[in-house]
Amino acid sequence: MAHFLSNFFHLIYENSCLVCNQGAKDLFVCLNCESSFLERKENHLKSFKEYNLEIFSWGYYEGNLRSGIIELKNGKKKLAKYFAQKIHGFWNEINISSITKGAIVIAVPSSKKRIKERGYCQTSLIAEEFAKLQLLKFIDNFVIRKKETSFMNKLENLEERQKNIKDAFELTRNFVPTKSILLIDDILTSGSTLCELSKTIHETYPEIKITGLTVAAGDRFN
Ligand SMILES: [Zn+2]
Repeated sequence: MAHFLSNFFHLIYENSCLVCNQGAKDLFVCLNCESSFLERKENHLKSFKEYNLEIFSWGYYEGNLRSGIIELKNGKKKLAKYFAQKIHGFWNEINISSITKGAIVIAVPSSKKRIKERGYCQTSLIAEEFAKLQLLKFIDNFVIRKKETSFMNKLENLEERQKNIKDAFELTRNFVPTKSILLIDDILTSGSTLCELSKTIHETYPEIKITGLTVAAGDRFN
């Protein structure tokens, strides 16, 4: 129902900014919102050595960028394309082509229940568009979320998050013709989700280099 309503309202606001609903003419996002997004600049990399995983994030998960990601989850599908363009630009800017070369792009999957509620998986939409822009191969449903998990941002501490996400993922394919995988997610908080997914892939493919890329990152757990 919520999904239906937000789609309905979006029809009314078809030509408005997808974040603040003010006039944006032909832009997805108005210049006011766009200029308020805080990019992480040099503070864009978090390393999780235990998992042999590095995660790059474009913006800070706060203010209008936070609102935009919430709107994307609440029915404004077009924002996936917008955020894909942003991380595409960011990825080219930081110029780490050695990681991207020949990489397969996959999304951190939502659960079947959430996909059904929303009508789409927002991370898959971002990942698919990003892969297209980077001329990389995107594989949908390479991994599925087999366990219904609580919303990570509702959990207080790192331990609870790790417990919540443990054994949540399952690979659906037996062969991946790549040396490198790029994992796309919308938000990075504690890193527990991406670490767990990376661990699951490495159990079958220990030799594959895995790198994370997210639209935004919060700083709550630094
Ligand atoms: Zn706006």
